[in-house]
Amino acid sequence: MKALVLGGGVAGITTAYELLKDGWDVTVLERLEQPALFTSFANAGLVAPGHAYTWSSPAAPKILLKSLYRNDQALRFRPSLDPALWRWMWKFMTNCTAEKAKRNTMRKFLLCRYSQSLLIDVVAAAGVKYDGLDGGLLYLYRTPETFEAGKVKAEILQSAGADIDVLSPAAVGECDPVFTPAIREQIAGALFAKTDASGDARMFTQGLADVCRSRGATIKFSTEVTGFETEGRRVTGVRTKEGLESADHVVLSLGVYSPQLARQLGIDLPIYPVKGYSMTIPMDDPRDAPRLGGVDEDNLMAFCPMGSRVRLTATAEFVGYSTTHKPSDFRHMTDVAKALFPKAGDYAKAEYWAGLRPMTPEGSPVFGRGEFENFWLNTGHGHMGWTMACGAARICADLIADRQPAIDLDGMLYGK
Ligand SMILES: Cc1cc2nc3c(=O)[nH]c(=O)nc-3n(C[C@H](O)[C@H](O)[C@H](O)COP(=O)(O)OP(=O)(O)OC[C@H]3O[C@@H](n4cnc5c(N)ncnc54)[C@H](O)[C@@H]3O)c2cc1C
Repeated sequence: MKALVLGGGVAGITTAYELLKDGWDVTVLERLEQPALFTSFANAGLVAPGHAYTWSSPAAPKILLKSLYRNDQALRFRPSLDPALWRWMWKFMTNCTAEKAKRNTMRKFLLCRYSQSLLIDVVAAAGVKYDGLDGGLLYLYRTPETFEAGKVKAEILQSAGADIDVLSPAAVGECDPVFTPAIREQIAGALFAKTDASGDARMFTQGLADVCRSRGATIKFSTEVTGFETEGRRVTGVRTKEGLESADHVVLSLGVYSPQLARQLGIDLPIYPVKGYSMTIPMDDPRDAPRLGGVDEDNLMAFCPMGSRVRLTATAEFVGYSTTHKPSDFRHMTDVAKALFPKAGDYAKAEYWAGLRPMTPEGSPVFGRGEFENFWLNTGHGHMGWTMACGAARICADLIADRQPAIDLDGMLYGK
């Protein structure tokens, strides 16, 4: 039995891996020349169930409003005439109640936690190298007010079993000596998610793609999917610029481009691109770089040591599908990073990148299928797609095999 996976990002390649384990004959179709060259290329690398908060919270409308008239915000909303943006924004706003924020956060947390346990299994079984780092992630707060609010927010995850400690500035220094007494003056405290982790999503995805190939999968690069052939309630073929592909089952994992293709099959996916920026600097002396990853919560800047590099990411911007970037996009991030980690590495040699998070209004991905019985969805993982990938892939494989997934999919199944 043949399965076609559309998309060679972290979602598609992990799905291919899980389908191979189930005995499928797997082919992946990817329009670029390698796996993980699009959104999975240079994300923050955080494997962060302890940061699974939904973005659609009661605080979000005020933050969005502020972003309309201020340029220094981590979130940048520039209204456009794109109807898809307004439909997405409407759904996002309707999720901004305390009750829905709690429910959406819990749902994300359970998926992230499940997924992290599978990531550990996949790495052990497949032997993939990915500059992985265990030992927790630090969520830093700059003011007593934001620290207090962070502690209250964390109670949602703690009540679901997240192992999160509250740290004083001195304890932050004990956790990671890069935070010297002078640097700690910038910090009011931190939340320490002890079982969170990190790693390079691109290395992982490319390594896992090699494992998939060695186990018999075919990965067709430079192969852009353009449409579908259907018969009754089945998708009988996938049209590409290189010709027609057929399979018994098809999985859609095209990240931000999933809605365009799904629409051809009458599936309306609430996924919109939210742009973010990253810079990667070569480490000088590892003793001067962060030992653990984390987030500067007040500036919404993530930091992550990755082997001999440090990755920094920031910003959530609604500007459509553009992945261009300019030096000014990185100015605030660079200032914040240099203040926290002045000697982390050679900032002059930074590699710059911008990517598009495939966000749903709730922040959780979409599984299941529409009216076509052999066309499956595993897409819309938003700002946590690296954390969610292994779990989401197993869920998708279980649904195809008509097995009960290990976690409750309430609110994540298309049309339900
Ligand atoms: C700045 C930033 C920081 C982030 N930090 C984190 C983090 O710390 N932790 C975390 O868990 N997540 C993080 N994320 C989110 C994470 O990177 C994404 O959720 C994840 O990479 C999405 O993977 P994907 O496979 O769904 O999409 P993609 O990686 O975009 O894969 C989709 C693939 O489909 C291909 N494709 C598209 N259209 C076609 C077509 N028509 N035919 C064939 N192929 C096609 C694309 O080329 C692409 O390779 C971050 C994202 C950004 C932007």
